[in-house]
Amino acid sequence: MRAVAEAVIASTDELTALDQAIGDGDHGLNMKRGFDAVLAELSNICELPLPDALQKTGMELVMKVGGASGPLYGTLFMAFGKALPENPSRDEFVSQFAAAIDAVKARGKSEQGQKTMLDVLIPVYETLAAGGDLIAVRETATQAALATVPMLAMRGRASFLGERSVGHMDPGARSSEIIIIAVADQMESLA
Ligand code: ADP
Ligand code: MG
Repeated sequence: MRAVAEAVIASTDELTALDQAIGDGDHGLNMKRGFDAVLAELSNICELPLPDALQKTGMELVMKVGGASGPLYGTLFMAFGKALPENPSRDEFVSQFAAAIDAVKARGKSEQGQKTMLDVLIPVYETLAAGGDLIAVRETATQAALATVPMLAMRGRASFLGERSVGHMDPGARSSEIIIIAVADQMESLA
């Protein structure tokens, strides 16, 4: 959780710049505010079993992150923790990731292909479900974020731009890439 928070916070300026291009420029600071709160609560979060730690992280994000991304990332973490066993198998981890993504879709009334964070989360889930390793997960996250550049935004503020949203990476896709790479790096260093 520390690694994820630090990676997001270190990317504040980049996420701001991406959101300045097709949104209102607050994604960097929104995410920084949320993950600063997670860092402030880290000692409490770390005492909890994994499912509760994920849910508490989600609650911090809902409370502290402004904008659309707060409830959406909050939902992702809370739903991930909700039915996760304390020591999940790989299959349990992957199927609970799917449940978390479904919760984001329901919350955002969104689908794959609309130039959002889902365009990274869903391909990463598919790589995991197909048995992909951490290297494949990282590659998928990076390629999927890049693949949002030519997409037309159909959800969130960027959708107000219509065709002018084409040619820029979606800020939430990039923040999802950053989070996933931080998790993968961390899992690799613990393996
Ligand atoms: P806001 O758009 O309210 O300013 P942020 O800038 O923090 O909030 O977050 C924008 C990001 O949130 C987008 O780049 C996109 O990835 C994601 N997003 C916005 N709306 C949705 C939605 N309905 N479903 C999924 N993701 C969304
Ligand atoms: Mg914004």
